[in-house]
Amino acid sequence: MINIYKPKIVKTNSGTRVTAVFEHNLNENILWYEIDDKYGEYLTDETADGFVVGLLFYALKHGSDMRILAPLSQNLYYSINNYLIPLLVKIHGYKQIKITCNLLRHDPIKNKGAVGTGLSCGVDSFATIIDHLNDDCPEGYKINYFTFFNVGSHGDNGGERARDLFKERAEITRKYAEEVNKEFITVDSNISEILMMNFEQTNTLRSLSAVLILQRLFNVYYYSSSVPITRFKLNKKNTNGYDIFNMSMLSTETIRFYSSCPMMTRVEKTKLVAKYEPSYKYLNVCFYEENNCGKCPKCLRTLLTLEVIGEIRRYSNVFNLEAYYSNRNNFIATIIAKKQSEDNLKEIHNEMLRQNFKIPLSSKIMSIGFKLKLNFKNKFMGKGRVIKLKSMFRTKSIRNEAS
Ligand SMILES: [Zn+2]
Repeated sequence: MINIYKPKIVKTNSGTRVTAVFEHNLNENILWYEIDDKYGEYLTDETADGFVVGLLFYALKHGSDMRILAPLSQNLYYSINNYLIPLLVKIHGYKQIKITCNLLRHDPIKNKGAVGTGLSCGVDSFATIIDHLNDDCPEGYKINYFTFFNVGSHGDNGGERARDLFKERAEITRKYAEEVNKEFITVDSNISEILMMNFEQTNTLRSLSAVLILQRLFNVYYYSSSVPITRFKLNKKNTNGYDIFNMSMLSTETIRFYSSCPMMTRVEKTKLVAKYEPSYKYLNVCFYEENNCGKCPKCLRTLLTLEVIGEIRRYSNVFNLEAYYSNRNNFIATIIAKKQSEDNLKEIHNEMLRQNFKIPLSSKIMSIGFKLKLNFKNKFMGKGRVIKLKSMFRTKSIRNEAS
């Protein structure tokens, strides 16, 4: 059994924190979220909502029920017990668990009525922002706050390296928020150190837990999913595949979550972003570095799309284009070889055909070798083995990123 006690708001040397003690097998631990003092009044200690969502994967991992000794949103209590837990149990093969709480809250928490979204300055994040700049967007849905979290995207298991990276990256995105005159809230947390779980497999719940501790602020929050709804998938490897479901499950009486731009593919989002002038200065997609390296899979995917649609020259100040051009033909060969098995690559290939993009001869030749190699791997090593190797490679990369 995991007992979660009532959250408390405390001041620290670095900001204002909302903390909750939880007990698991008689061991006591504390989960905390911290923001700048300037926004301290928006931290929510009325309910344990953010803590329950933040610790849900922890409880599932340990097969432990959760007893909430603090008020909890009635909506969350009902949705998590009856829909979300059974679904996560099914996807991940966990044991069924249950949340109990005798203090259900039915009323919304009094708040500022703000509208927020996460700001990574990546393609998904910019697409969400641009999509809400239209004049026909009602006032109550226009974004006025950007957020930036340390809940796992800077290193799955957290720690000081991830925290340093979070701070460095926050300073880059803060500049954009200042330029467009919006509020910018960073949330630091020790959730990654507590969960010790793969980020992509748990990311939506981790991120939204950090929004749920700000229910005195937000009425509406857009979560930029990387997977369009047309590719909805109950996917063990990434929560984004079923985000549209997560959004309705995690909404409370106070805050409503939306999976933004649900119909748009990555290529369509990139086209939208390429028309937005601030992106020429702030677009940041890199998997490895603070600044866009130009040669990692995410940089290559974005730059090739921009080249195919004729907009790459606009991004010469924010990408290492030299690195891109030395790796580009090889990447095009990868796209040709893997387009049938990876939707993201297939999308770019389709756009190349649509735009009559000239595929270099060297890419065509290399793709033959890549295809043969891929077939060999699938035939003799089995698909599962290849995926395992890939994930080993990824873990190594992230360690490098954080170092
Ligand atoms: Zn990169």
